Amino acid sequence: MIQLYVPLNFLGVIYREIKQSLADIERLFKLLDQHREVADVPNAKPLAIQGAELRFSHVDFSYEAKRQILFDVDFTIPAGTTTAVVGHSGSGKSTLSRLLFRFYDINAGSISIDGQDLRNITQVSLRKAIGIVPQDTVLFNDTIEYNIAYGKPDASREEIVAAAKAAYIHDFIESLPDGYQSMVGERGLKLSGGEKQRVAIARTLLKNPAILIFDEATSALDSRAEQAIQAQLKEIAKDRTTLVIAHRLSTIADAAQILVLDHGRIVERGTHAQLLAQNGAYAQMWDRQQARQEIGPSSPGTNDRD
Ligand code: ADP
Ligand code: MG
Repeated sequence: MIQLYVPLNFLGVIYREIKQSLADIERLFKLLDQHREVADVPNAKPLAIQGAELRFSHVDFSYEAKRQILFDVDFTIPAGTTTAVVGHSGSGKSTLSRLLFRFYDINAGSISIDGQDLRNITQVSLRKAIGIVPQDTVLFNDTIEYNIAYGKPDASREEIVAAAKAAYIHDFIESLPDGYQSMVGERGLKLSGGEKQRVAIARTLLKNPAILIFDEATSALDSRAEQAIQAQLKEIAKDRTTLVIAHRLSTIADAAQILVLDHGRIVERGTHAQLLAQNGAYAQMWDRQQARQEIGPSSPGTNDRD
């Protein structure tokens, strides 16, 4: 009897433990549920793009209930034009791009593409329509070919090479011992910041999206590499609806519209010339950056991160 009693008791302990951890798992799922921010509505339709006019209409947003991040953000990017957003770090610039991908739902207002509210369209179709060249391109531990084709998984070899050529990275790839089959990423070949960015550009070119986002796309580069890449980005952005989040104001001076974001509010808007004439926050940022450039391109602080 005693021999049976001990294991049963032992099982009882295990049973209680399992029950407890199941309860924990349940709680965990509840938590996850609360944090799973968005789902397609039952009758969600695929996004139907015409010119890809982008509209933020009186948008309020907070990641957490207690801290509002965006306040009444209201702007339109007319189809096929470029709007730049500038502002100190933490002002909410990258949040705009996350909302455009609908990683989160907003608290008030609406965001729409060609008049279609993001909440009524499928997330798959939305994410297909937007290409982003991010600040830090993450490369997968796979071949360079895979990393470029990630933008369009069914791309042919010819399409991949064409994209790489247009991003000026084809020659570099060909110079590698394994060419397009070279392994990159953490466990492969380490690419420089500029090379990674060119991979991201090739990826975006291949995806051929109607809407583009450049999030501080060249802030990791020295100014010469940045100039080269800026020229390419301008080429890709031509005739596409583009949102550029910029640190260096000189790179966005020809944008059709510039928004100055400060603590989640648009405090100024206009063209470069109009904003300089206003002599406000933008003009001050511009003067500061010009002064830095006069010190010389190799001096520390030239790469303005705010
Ligand atoms: P920017 O790109 O202008 O530097 P962000 O849009 O990244 O600024 O961030 C705006 C504010 O939102 C910052 O105060 C930041 O700390 C906060 N924030 C960003 N992401 C999150 C998040 N996932 N959860 C909570 N707060 C966040
Ligand atoms: Mg940012």
